[in-house]
Amino acid sequence: MKHRVLPFLYAALLALPLVACSDDSTAPDDDGPPAPQYVGAKGVTIREVSIYQSLKRQLMVDGAPVEGGVPLVQGRDAVIRVFYDTNADYAGGEVTARLEIAGADPIEIVGTLDASSSEDQINSTINFSVPGAAIGASLEYSISILEEGQTADDNAAAHYPASGTEAVAVDGPANTFRVILAPFRYDADGSGREPDMSEATVESYRQRLKQLYPVSNVEVTVREVTPWNQELDAFGNGWQELGYELYGMRAQDNAPDDVYYYAIFNPSASFNQYCSQGCLLGVTLLNADPPDVGQVDLRFAMGVGYPEYAADTMAHELGHAHGREHADCGGPDQPDPQFPHPGGQIGVWGLDTVSLELKPPTLITDIMGYCDNQWVSDYTYSAFLNRGKNVNLPRWHGPKQRVALVGLDGKGVATFGGFRDAAMGLQGKRVQSRVTHHDGRVAPTDGVFYAWDHLPGGMVLVPVSDESVDTLELELEGVRHVLHTGP
Ligand SMILES: [Zn+2]
Repeated sequence: MKHRVLPFLYAALLALPLVACSDDSTAPDDDGPPAPQYVGAKGVTIREVSIYQSLKRQLMVDGAPVEGGVPLVQGRDAVIRVFYDTNADYAGGEVTARLEIAGADPIEIVGTLDASSSEDQINSTINFSVPGAAIGASLEYSISILEEGQTADDNAAAHYPASGTEAVAVDGPANTFRVILAPFRYDADGSGREPDMSEATVESYRQRLKQLYPVSNVEVTVREVTPWNQELDAFGNGWQELGYELYGMRAQDNAPDDVYYYAIFNPSASFNQYCSQGCLLGVTLLNADPPDVGQVDLRFAMGVGYPEYAADTMAHELGHAHGREHADCGGPDQPDPQFPHPGGQIGVWGLDTVSLELKPPTLITDIMGYCDNQWVSDYTYSAFLNRGKNVNLPRWHGPKQRVALVGLDGKGVATFGGFRDAAMGLQGKRVQSRVTHHDGRVAPTDGVFYAWDHLPGGMVLVPVSDESVDTLELELEGVRHVLHTGP
């Protein structure tokens, strides 16, 4: 008879002190007492199994499966936490915790157990680091806490499920969130200052997006530097012009539909200089219409590159570009009335699956608020996933439409910003417009208004049949604007 030797395949992170499994080699055949098996460890009960990809989702509590909760995403790294209790029958010896996932290598952790696991103590649970490749279109798993013993001594409470595997639905398909960083060189003060685009910094941006967005992977690439000689101040002056530039750049690059552009720049040498009297960190247009996908052309945002705030500003602004409104923390204008948790809190336990830092639900706030100590709430995470299913996965081939772009600044001044191609049928806030062509043709049409998130004003797209436009007339917030498009 042979021992069943558990291969030590993958030592993940450990709540438990780690030792390698010994190879017990071959036992003598048939004589002597039966060789020991690995059986459910005495005095040990698996009380709860939960999986975290950013946020906690319970899989089992007190022996029963739990339905629903935070959606799982295929291909996304995870941590499975096993909460246990021990009683006097557990003698304090080493056990082997084993996670099996159909289609993936089993993962084992060897160590000793304490009395009881608790929610807020990461080291009180058995923590399996599960690579994204093990999370398929469904998750079929089993967990056992094992020790050597006779079959008759098996403790059923140390296995879940009792036999076979349990299947859990994986709602989110594998998908990659793609971002192009567009650095701008700040020439307005003669400095030629560029934001830090070192490999390490770009990687830190990528990691932050990966922590907060329900995706299998994040791809960040850096575009060539764009010189910029107009002033960008801390109160938002000049930002709109950069927004129009970015809008045009996205179209001019013929960027794939699922790509988000993020402009990054440093108008002063340091954050403290820049923000000495308060400041704007980032801006975009709320891309909430139609709700499931938004506008392809509005998949852009911009912000400052100061390391104190750059990554979170990017994650926040790209959140608006995913159609998310503000979480009510730190006093944003018009917080999302649907946001379910008080004070913009994240609502459920979060976990950084790399550092294993826990995020208590009432102490940490959502990335779409203005507070510090941010993570992502279950509400925002699910909304990102819904948007990502529609945006990040298939290429969206909408018809292109020629439009005249009109910018409305914070003082109510409208300016003509040229002609562009806008993809898809335009949706959003309707603006009655009238286009007069050089040959006298007059076309009444509906323009669409998109508001800046952190600035007054916004952008209007007015569909045109061709570019022989003499004047554009439109009414915005009760004010009639007449714009001449030509010289
Ligand atoms: Zn915002």
